[in-house]
Amino acid sequence: MANQHLLKPAAASLAITTLKGVGPQIESRLARLGIRTVQDVLFHLPLRYQDRTRFSPMGGLTAGSDVLVTGVIELSGVRMGRRRSLVSVISDNTGTITMRQFRFTATQQRALVRGGLIQCFGEVRQGPTGLEMVHPEYRLLHSESEATTEQTLTAVYPTTDGVGQRKWRDMIGQALPRCATEIEELLPKGVDVPGMEISLADALTLLHCPPVGTDPLLLMQGSHPARQRLAFEEMLSHHIAIRQRRSHRDRLCAPLMPPSTRLWPQLCEQLHFPLTSAQVRVVEEVFSDLGGTVPTMRLVQGDVGSGKTVVAAAAVLAAVEAGCQAVVMAPTELLARQHFDSFEIWLKELGIDAVWLTSRAAAATRRQACQRLASGEVQVGIGTHALFQDDVHYHNLGLVVVDEQHRFGVEQRLALRDKGRSDNRAPHQLVMTATPIPRSLAMVMYADMDVSVIDEMPPGRQPVETVVIPNSRRQAVQERIRESCARGMRAYWVCPLIDESELLDLEAVTQRAESLRQDLPELKIELLHGRNTPAEKDVVMNGFRSGQVDLLVATTVIEVGVDVPEASLMVIENAERLGLAQLHQLRGRVGRGDRKSACVLMYQAPLGDRAKARLSTMRETNDGFEIAQKDLELRGPGELLGTRQSGLPQFRIADLTRDHMLLESVRDVAAQLLDNGETKLIDRLIRRWLRTEDGFYSA
Ligand code: ADP
Ligand code: MG
Repeated sequence: MANQHLLKPAAASLAITTLKGVGPQIESRLARLGIRTVQDVLFHLPLRYQDRTRFSPMGGLTAGSDVLVTGVIELSGVRMGRRRSLVSVISDNTGTITMRQFRFTATQQRALVRGGLIQCFGEVRQGPTGLEMVHPEYRLLHSESEATTEQTLTAVYPTTDGVGQRKWRDMIGQALPRCATEIEELLPKGVDVPGMEISLADALTLLHCPPVGTDPLLLMQGSHPARQRLAFEEMLSHHIAIRQRRSHRDRLCAPLMPPSTRLWPQLCEQLHFPLTSAQVRVVEEVFSDLGGTVPTMRLVQGDVGSGKTVVAAAAVLAAVEAGCQAVVMAPTELLARQHFDSFEIWLKELGIDAVWLTSRAAAATRRQACQRLASGEVQVGIGTHALFQDDVHYHNLGLVVVDEQHRFGVEQRLALRDKGRSDNRAPHQLVMTATPIPRSLAMVMYADMDVSVIDEMPPGRQPVETVVIPNSRRQAVQERIRESCARGMRAYWVCPLIDESELLDLEAVTQRAESLRQDLPELKIELLHGRNTPAEKDVVMNGFRSGQVDLLVATTVIEVGVDVPEASLMVIENAERLGLAQLHQLRGRVGRGDRKSACVLMYQAPLGDRAKARLSTMRETNDGFEIAQKDLELRGPGELLGTRQSGLPQFRIADLTRDHMLLESVRDVAAQLLDNGETKLIDRLIRRWLRTEDGFYSA
């Protein structure tokens, strides 16, 4: 597959300052968006488009659209109303529209006279007496012939402070003419992807300056072939980078850890339940990885409550049995503590020591933990990302288990990758997540990982009955808690973030705990939030676990992983503020034992459409995959598939929700390019699409 287009790498490396009107100041502002070269500017696509190519007849206007209209001023004058405004009624031969301005000068007022000709561009809204445009861009005309339309749709760019739309249009205007000669066509001919018949230069020109008649909706939804073509190239570049990372890792060496034949069977005997067949299968998969000398990178996916922790324990035991150190890292202090508690009980029986390490640990404790890890005296470390700080050293780290990996930032993941590495050695890695990932997506965007799915729940679990109730019926909910707790049950009461300010939230949750204590004096009620010290959290959680505490009032700190099987009632206040994934996680805190559990979602009326749909989804299903699917549908294109949550890369153009049908071709073409040893081309693709500063894929 010889590629004739590998000519001038010019625009790829041409600094942005070679454009007229781009000095050091604009340069540094653009750097915030990761834009450094002329090529970067060209690949910065519009967020949306305005259609100023034609005049819309006023008779056919609908609220919500941006339109260009022209007509005669029928009347104009100041209205007093609740706020003083200058109102002008404009008509063409099909209908009328009102132009309203709250800020205006005397000159403007004098110029808007009855009988004058005008053209306006703006958003149509429903006003008190009919359709209106509030503060549109407008221009007075001397004659009808002065009315002007644009030749192309007007692009509106995503931007950063201090770089206006006009600047964007100007930069693009300068860069586009160079693109035909300087932007290389990198994809091989004959690739079967929508839009490949359009040259790269034409695709970019079309997207920046769509000609009259292009459907702006098609462009904005991203289904236009020109956009698909670029999305494909972007996904391809990421996928190749991920595969390169894998092949780099495959050349490294990891300690060999045969399946645990001594400790793991002993732990299984200790457990008061038999493993599900899904757990057995996944443990086998993990053991078979660890038994090789290539560093493992396995993603274990299982819905909340499917029993991932014990699978992690199996891996830890294989490491210990092989004489290596293992660490288990959790994203929050609370979760880390809980892992430590369960592991400590399990490990103690087996005669294995574990240390606990978080960034909040007291200096002396920390020093001691570090020293024991460095000397190899202790084999298991459990904690937060503090386990991977620079001054923490390991004697012979063989396994890293990361729980709820998507919660960690890129930097933390990089630190983790480097830990325990030396020359050509790297530890095995096991990553646990409750986020469902469709298979096609996993094969492309997690191509460097093997995936195991725990697709079965422990037996006896009953679906959590979910009800949706307005905040105004709080009394009734409190009664329900009173009754349940009287029968020996335990309950959570969650107050989600109300404000951006942590202090105000703290106040809200503290007040709620107070009011509940007053209303339910017979119950033991405790409060848990992000500002508690680890010791305080310990006391509260232990009280709740042991049953001394009946009701735990908390912020969303309990969202991930908290496991108290005896808790069977979950109340979430202001549930309408939370996304589906978060609600599912929270609800997953109950229904973990064999008793019937319930979840009460309280909301503040009135509910918006999306919030309503989210809450009814929660009421209808307990299935994490179904909820994730619904989440995608509700959020719609434009918002990436919870990119931040899933630890996936941030794309500039592609959208995995929308473009997933390209995934198969992405794999095929990547295989072709790699098999044919197209290294130069691959380098250029990666340089075009991946931001060096992410360091996301560096092997
Ligand atoms: P998650 O996958 O959400 O991390 P956990 O590992 O915390 O789930 O397990 C949830 C609960 O289910 C725990 O209380 C755990 O002891 C219990 N559990 C795990 N596996 C089984 C099983 N096979 N049978 C019964 N209970 C189990
Ligand atoms: Mg868990």
